[in-house]
This record gives sequence, structure tokens and C-alpha cells, in this order.
Amino acid sequence: MTAHQPDANFLKEHNARSLWHPMAHPGDSLANPPTIVTGASGVRIKDVDGHEVVDAVGGLWNVNLGFSCQPVKDAIAAQLDVLPYYSIFRGTTNDQVIQLAEELRDFFAPDGLSRAFFTSGGSDSVETALRLARQYHKVRGEPARVKYLSLKKGYHGTHFGGASVNGNANFRTAYEPLLAGCHHIPAPYTYRNPFNETDPERLAQLCLAALEDEIAFQGAGTIAAFIMEPILGAGGVIPPHESFMPGVAEICRRHGILLIADEVITAFGRTGSWSGSRHWGVQPDMMCTAKAITNGYFPFGALMLSERLVEVFEKDDTGKAAIGHGYTYSGHPVGAAAALACLAETKRLNVPENAAARGTQIFEGLQDLAARYDLIGDVRGGHGLMSALELVSDRATKAAVDKKIINRLQEVAYQNGAMVRVSGPNIILSPPLVLTEADAAQILSALDAGFAAVN
Ligand code: PLP
Repeated sequence: MTAHQPDANFLKEHNARSLWHPMAHPGDSLANPPTIVTGASGVRIKDVDGHEVVDAVGGLWNVNLGFSCQPVKDAIAAQLDVLPYYSIFRGTTNDQVIQLAEELRDFFAPDGLSRAFFTSGGSDSVETALRLARQYHKVRGEPARVKYLSLKKGYHGTHFGGASVNGNANFRTAYEPLLAGCHHIPAPYTYRNPFNETDPERLAQLCLAALEDEIAFQGAGTIAAFIMEPILGAGGVIPPHESFMPGVAEICRRHGILLIADEVITAFGRTGSWSGSRHWGVQPDMMCTAKAITNGYFPFGALMLSERLVEVFEKDDTGKAAIGHGYTYSGHPVGAAAALACLAETKRLNVPENAAARGTQIFEGLQDLAARYDLIGDVRGGHGLMSALELVSDRATKAAVDKKIINRLQEVAYQNGAMVRVSGPNIILSPPLVLTEADAAQILSALDAGFAAVN
């Protein structure tokens, strides 16, 4: 088989017999063959049958600048010619990664972050943050601080550390036992929460009280870090009340607990701000990034570190601060070149501004759909281009909707011009940030057709 013979049935059959998909049942791909994507341009993807749709998934929350971002493609091609790989383990570095670290330092200066540790993706950035948090406390003489706190519904990737702080059973149960000493507090999820609180501000206060309670229960001196997404993404797009993240930051600071912002989705404009932390006016101790850092064109990530950490590590003279961690692809020159081009384009196009405007358009459109279709239990969004619809079979009981209905809805939306993502009971929208008004309207009308078909 070569890439030049894309016969649809042949590909579907061979897909099922020769590969397993992440986040899918391995026995499912013949009965429910995945869409075979063979091309893309702008914000549209094209499948093996020649059908073209707006990609309302944005690759996987990462193709922020669309599929035709020529400066990034050129940067990758040029760098492959000059230096396709070299490691930055102790003793060597490369010109691209140095320039990128400087650019990131400027980009994240308002977030109080001044050093980068490079990784090969989001899960790696999370793993790095969790490890460095423990090391930070060991270096400064509090070795008992080893535990982690996080939010239920949070998603932090799939390494054992990230899975342990994940707050969704789907990503945990099959792989237990996970890391000891990871504890979860309720998420500020207004539609469903243990307090039955529907007011976002009051709910934020209750969740903050639960955090204080858990810290007192565990003992502050045993906790290394709290990790959270500024807006929960994969868990169903859950934006907290504006008081929540600043409240978490204040509590963490007071108890000597590091705050790790997992911004694998939210950094680089997705929320309508340059970072999710900035969106809420918070300066975290560490920030995990990946995905849009290279527009999805190259696997890459960076953990950004605050001065508070930097000082402790760089001033250590005991040897404890030597970093026994890193990846073969940390600081990959091709990834660094891609990221440099992405940062330049993100700034040149001022993508957060467009994300905010198109995000409002989509959020209002979804609210419109909710006024017409009872299947929609909750509409979430309003902070840039990340939004979700939670479907229910009964608004009064909030009972789950039949999976077949949501799958059918997705199929009809696809036939009508938009690829949307289904995750549990949620339809999630995370399109490229360069979306136009007409593209956003196409997503909404495709969804409308989907709801009309299953209503
Ligand atoms: N953290 C968050 C918030 C994410 O959304 C993701 C992926 O969606 C990850 C971590 C893991 O990133 P990756 O899939 O690149 O390992």
C-alpha cells in the first residue's frame, strides 16, 4: 500500500487491522470506521471521499493558525535542511532553541515566567512540572512536600503523573494503581456539583473552601503543588467564575504550595487572552504548554518557570538542583524553529482578539440552539474559542442522552459542513483561532442541522 492509492474501503479495512487509536476501543474501528482525513487547507479538512468541512476541533485544540500557515511550514523545511536534530542535554544546545527561549521569556513576561524547559508535548510538560515541583521543595529544604492536589474533571495528559492528577475516571481506572498522594477537589462546574450550587460565584467560593479543607486535612507541609487548567478543556469546557483561579493562587501562596497552570490548551490565545492565567489575572509558578506552540505541525512543548523557582534552583550550591529529567526531543531544533514562526504569526495576526470575537459569536449561536432544542442541557463557553454543549435526555433530571443520538448528531453535522468533537455527553468546539465569521456561521448551521435530525 502506498500513499498514492487512497481507496476508501481499502484504507478503512487496513486501518482496523493494523493500528489502534488513542482514546478508542481497539475492537471498534471496523464497525465504526473513523473519518480518513487526507488533506486540509485554511480551517478546512478534506476526507478520503473528497468531502470538505470546517474543522471545529482545530486538529486537537492545537491547529490555532489553521492548516495553511506557510511561515511555519517554511521554517520547518528550512530547519530540516540546516540542522534536523541535535540534543540539548548538558554540553550542547542549538541556535533555534536559544532564540525561542528568549521569545517565550518576552511572551510570558506578564505571567511572571522567565525560563523554559522544553518537552515533546503536553503530557511531557505536565510530567516535568510535577517532578520539578517535588525537586523544588527538596532543594529548599522541605522534602516532605510530595503530594499533589488537582480538580475533579481536570485533564492533564496520560503519563502516570498526569493520569494520577487527572480528575476523570475514564483516564484512570484501567491503569490503577496510580501515583500515591494525589488528591482531588470538586471542580467549579455549575451544571453538576456536589453542593447543588448553580451560582458560579458562590460555587467558586465553595470549591475554594473545599481546597482549604483538603490542605488542612493532608497537612500543607506535605503538599508540593496544585495543578489546574485555567479553563477545564477535555473535561467538557468548564470556565470557572473569575474569582476562582485568583482564589486558588492566593491559597497556594499562603500555604507554600506551587501553582501549576496546565495551559496545554489555553496558552497562545485560545481563551481570547495571550494565556489562560493572564485571562484571570494570575501569575502561576509553572505553566505547561504544548499543542499550539507549533500549531500542531511538530510535536513540541515547553514548561515555563517563574522567578520564584528559578532563584531556588539556580542559587543552589548543594548539587540537589541538578535536573535528572529531560527528553531526547527536548529543545528539538525543528520544533523550536516551528515555534518561533508560530509565535511571530500569533502576534502578527493578534489571534487572541479574533478568538474572543468569534468565541462570542459561537457562544451566542449555541445559546440560540439551546433555546430551540431540549436535548441541550448546558451551554458553556464565552471565553474565546472553547465551548461545549452538554446533552441530556431530560432537562429536569439531567439524565444522560443515548450515545447513538449524539453520534448521529455528529454525523449529520459533518455532512452539513463541520467536524465537531464528541466527548462523553458533550459536543466540544475548539476551532482554529483564525476562523472567520462565515466559518463560525457554518459550524453553527451544521450543528443546527444535526439537532434537527435527532430532535
Ligand atoms: N494537559 C491538558 C490540559 C491537555 O488538554 C492535554 C491534551 O489534550 C494534555 C495535558 C496532554 O497533552 P499531549 O496529548 O500533547 O500529551
